[in-house]
Amino acid sequence: MEKRDKQLCMDDIKYLWHPFTQMKEYARENPLIIEKAEGSFLWDVKGNKYIDGVSSLWVTTHGHRRKEIDAAITRQMEKVSHTTLLGLSHPGAIELAKKLVEITPEGLNRVFYSESGSTAVEIALKIAFQYWFQTSGTGSRKNKFIYLANSYHGDTIGSVSVGGIDLFHKLYNPLLFEALKAEAVYCYRCSLGKTFPSCGIKCLAKLEELMKKESENTAALIIEPLVQGAAGILVAPPGYLKGVRNLCTKYNVLMIADEVAVGFGRTGKMFACEHENVQPDIMTLGKGITGGYLPLAATLTTDRIFDAFLGEPDEFKTFFHGHTYTGNPLACAAALANLQVFESDGTLEKLLGKTLFFKNGLERFYELKHVGDVRQSGFMAGIELVADKKRKETYPLSDKIGNRVIMEARKRGLIIRPLGDVIVLMPHLSISVEELKELISITYDSIKAVTEV
Ligand SMILES: *Cc1c(COP(=O)(O)O)cnc(C)c1O
Repeated sequence: MEKRDKQLCMDDIKYLWHPFTQMKEYARENPLIIEKAEGSFLWDVKGNKYIDGVSSLWVTTHGHRRKEIDAAITRQMEKVSHTTLLGLSHPGAIELAKKLVEITPEGLNRVFYSESGSTAVEIALKIAFQYWFQTSGTGSRKNKFIYLANSYHGDTIGSVSVGGIDLFHKLYNPLLFEALKAEAVYCYRCSLGKTFPSCGIKCLAKLEELMKKESENTAALIIEPLVQGAAGILVAPPGYLKGVRNLCTKYNVLMIADEVAVGFGRTGKMFACEHENVQPDIMTLGKGITGGYLPLAATLTTDRIFDAFLGEPDEFKTFFHGHTYTGNPLACAAALANLQVFESDGTLEKLLGKTLFFKNGLERFYELKHVGDVRQSGFMAGIELVADKKRKETYPLSDKIGNRVIMEARKRGLIIRPLGDVIVLMPHLSISVEELKELISITYDSIKAVTEV
């Protein structure tokens, strides 16, 4: 046993290239190797048990090893594990598409599958571009995209083109298409120096200025509804999302709602758009869609968009896009079972009380000397650490404060992952109140232990 751990650690460092990871630093630390999971817990190869505090990177919806989802995948495996949607179909893809159309906001009537959030976004961008091309007769000038400062929509070149996180995106600038950056929506560090609600959502007015000027050149606006996840769980002020929808309508710009992170109950409703009764023209889904089991994503569109792609083959209106594993049957089976559990468990109904408990538990973090801001929406939370609270001064990068806190939490039996100096908590939706309490308390103690020495 002992020998196996050591060998795995050595081989991990020797053969693997981990995502979003400085491998030089990684090689200096002891890799943590997860071997199994159950409910809210993970076990490493040495048999240590941890609470999974980030839903295995924002994907697990009802916990690990849900018997209903396990069984659905096994049942599907006994029929067929992969067939294609290029020219053929299969029951799971059809049933899931119908279900997604039923549960997503009004008007989204077509489902295009892929495997990751990034690809769902690529597809949304290409569809939006092609839509204008095909509806404007002689070709369209509407070929730009508006995105928000601090936004994250994935890592492929198209999704990076509409990404607003300099640390991840800036280097690739020469490879990217031109996109228009809208004012940041980061109330704690408002780029306009305002405070909500007295600001009257000034960032929205700035967005309107941009749209007024650029609408004739703009195919679509892409937004993470309600919460910008990777930016550090930045929660938009109430009314912002609705305001964006209204501007898109007014200026004839398609609205792409990227619900990859916020979809499937994360913010307390099935989709974040529901909070403000918003109907986007295109919606992207990923992460929680299979309950955290298999890679699957979907891009949904309205009939108006879909119809613009109809024509005879020689009219060349076809959407020439499709990945090899598009709509994989095992993934579709997992996704259907995931949605069934939402119903049979009454997940969203039970979430209400737990969200309140979570919110109250998080309030206490303001007592800590180095907690500047606590942001929460449903079951996503970000705790922003600052060197100086009064001046909102950030820690020097070399302090690696976020990383130190999560390493401390790990020692105490909790796995979380920071976004810079923001400690992210993202428990799965079916976590028990007891486990939630433990998660909050370990996080609190870890922040205190690291920042108040
Ligand atoms: C994670 C994420 C993506 C990218 O999804 P991948 O599956 O990692 O490609 C896109 N958009 C948002 C909002 C995300 O949070």
